[in-house]
Amino acid sequence: ELVEKNEAVEIARQSLSLKARELEVTSQYKSAFLANMSHELRTPLNSVLILAKLLADNKLNNLTTKQIEYANVIYKSGNDLLELINDILDLAKIEAGHIDLHQEPVPVKTILRDLTQLFTVVAEEKKVQLITTIHESVPAEIVTDRLRVEQILKNLLSNAFKFTPAGGHITLNFSIEPHSPLLTRAELRQEKSLLTISVADTGIGIPVDKQQLIFEAFQQVDGSTSRKYGGTGLGLSISRELIKRLGGEITLQSEEDRGSTFTIWLPLSGWHSKETPQESLQE
Ligand code: ADP
Repeated sequence: ELVEKNEAVEIARQSLSLKARELEVTSQYKSAFLANMSHELRTPLNSVLILAKLLADNKLNNLTTKQIEYANVIYKSGNDLLELINDILDLAKIEAGHIDLHQEPVPVKTILRDLTQLFTVVAEEKKVQLITTIHESVPAEIVTDRLRVEQILKNLLSNAFKFTPAGGHITLNFSIEPHSPLLTRAELRQEKSLLTISVADTGIGIPVDKQQLIFEAFQQVDGSTSRKYGGTGLGLSISRELIKRLGGEITLQSEEDRGSTFTIWLPLSGWHSKETPQESLQE
């Protein structure tokens, strides 16, 4: 009887691993399809953009005001579409494991300087104050992929500015923390302390029932076509995937009408993925 039971368990195990392999292959096909499609879409779109810009700038000197206005709309919509395509391509590549990380010692001050340079003008325009702080416990350098970390923080800061009305403030804070019960990644719990970078805003906040959902691709709190805020709903899923690849995690604390704090947790001395690399994607 025991032998029979063992056999049954073995069969179940094999069929499960077959299913897992099937799923993996399907997901690879999906990513490859998205990557190829994005490439095919970008080429003709670039021609549309170049010519629309030519008309919008009235380079031919014979257009009416209305025609210039329409050319501007074509140019702006084309750019929105290009941004969407780039985001989809980025997410597909990250999900397929097809991104190279360049982890090296990075001065924390460099990351902070790059971001302040980018967002000072936005802060002035939106009349929202940007405060930056580095806790004294943070080492001068961390090992990570600077461009990817900046990409994640740009996403978080753009959202913070988008969803915070004039008069509010946004705080970008670097700190060192022991691991928190909010973290689910077992490997992170083995680190003694972690670098945290948080983006806190005094904006509209996120309802509790949407706080998990918004990390999924294309999900927004207001999913209606008449929504007030633009965007693709891809920024947070791209950020979450990138953070995973960097060995970290992202957590969110938010209250409606009070504001949101997104925190990224990163190992201080870089990360070398233990996942098996998947087949490469054509770009
Ligand atoms: P996008 O900003 O392009 O819509 P994201 O994936 O970056 O895409 O964000 C998904 C959704 O999460 C947003 O549309 C918004 O509903 C919500 N969200 C993200 N950041 C904030 C924030 N700081 N305050 C309020 N809502 C936010």
